Amino acid sequence: MRVSKVLRAILGFTREVVILSVDVVSRPRPVVRVHVRPKVRRRGRCGRCGQSSPWFDNGDGARSWRHLDAAFATVELVAVARRVDCGGCGPTVAAVPWARHDSAFTRAFEDLVVHDAIVGNKQAAADRYGISWRAVNNMCVRLATEALDRVDLLDGLIAIAIDEVKYKKGQRYLTVVCDHVTGRVLWAAKGRSKDTVGEFFDALGDRAGQLDFVTADGATWITEVVAVRAPNAIVCLDTFHVIGWATKALDEVRRSEWNKLRQAGRAKAAKEFKGLRFLLRRNWENLTMGQREVIWALETANRRTFRAFTLKEELRDIFSMPIGLARRALDDWLHYASRSKLAPFVKLARSIRAYRPSIEATIEWRLTNGIAESNNASIGRIRTNARGFHHPDAFITMVMLDRTGLAPQLPWHTAA
Ligand SMILES: [Zn+2]
Repeated sequence: MRVSKVLRAILGFTREVVILSVDVVSRPRPVVRVHVRPKVRRRGRCGRCGQSSPWFDNGDGARSWRHLDAAFATVELVAVARRVDCGGCGPTVAAVPWARHDSAFTRAFEDLVVHDAIVGNKQAAADRYGISWRAVNNMCVRLATEALDRVDLLDGLIAIAIDEVKYKKGQRYLTVVCDHVTGRVLWAAKGRSKDTVGEFFDALGDRAGQLDFVTADGATWITEVVAVRAPNAIVCLDTFHVIGWATKALDEVRRSEWNKLRQAGRAKAAKEFKGLRFLLRRNWENLTMGQREVIWALETANRRTFRAFTLKEELRDIFSMPIGLARRALDDWLHYASRSKLAPFVKLARSIRAYRPSIEATIEWRLTNGIAESNNASIGRIRTNARGFHHPDAFITMVMLDRTGLAPQLPWHTAA
């Protein structure tokens, strides 16, 4: 086999790239310098806007682009960066098949680095390829911008979820919008206020009229804006949040019972009781036989806590019932909860009455907790991998790259 054919395979070149010569420079790590040129055409394309334009000049002469490493060596492509005379942009460096405009790296190299930054973090990617954190960050921004220009994520939406996500300690939040159909993140911006939700609807424009469902956590800064900007949409309350309220009410009951035991001087009983906290938070079907026995024992040991646990589990069951059955079960549940003599559940019953139409819509249309929960978990993972984000834009860029399905493919799937 001819050496040049092997070389083309290693470099992942298509027929658009012509190899002129190759040399090796010994720095501590060898650098294979591959001199190339794009296949010559009568006209070139503007690197900025892609417009076909007449040739202008040879620009500043030879430039180099870092390409994917080859075994022990790093690889650089060297070429004359010719310019075209673009009608819109003026004299501009012509587009080259191997790199994005205005980058010192090839497209394949950038895709690989961004891929690593998403699955790991930016610093790990920077260390791995021997480039700066800033260079990795710029690649992430460049790829996210390019990808978001290519597709309109807000087209054809029917059901969306609006939620808030913490990006930093101390009340720093993003508003995140997801698509219920695909489970993908569509939009994210800094803040959690009516203005932030308004910005989303500005971006959506007339298409808000096509929205059938919006799920949210019941916060008025979301629901009030939705009522005005998407009046046709049915507002559903995210199951994830309702169950969260019930778990919180249960925890309040447990805590007050624990305090009673302590104040009565029953230290041993109080200590045993404290250990129940995480057990009570779990779902019945996830408990072991031994753990279930602990809960059953509560029926005689502490009836109030047992009643609270039962109320939480019954509410969870209602969300998986067919709507007719769920309506009747919810009537029963509200009746029982408001007479339970457990203050947190009496209060919860009042909230559920207030949100009842939204809760019934959630059950009827089966827009359950799946996406809000899984996106929250993934976004938490992105935040942990980066060990926090100082700037919300950097966080939004990573959330969009990872959760919108816009992340670059590995370069050998899309070789230039
Ligand atoms: Zn142009």
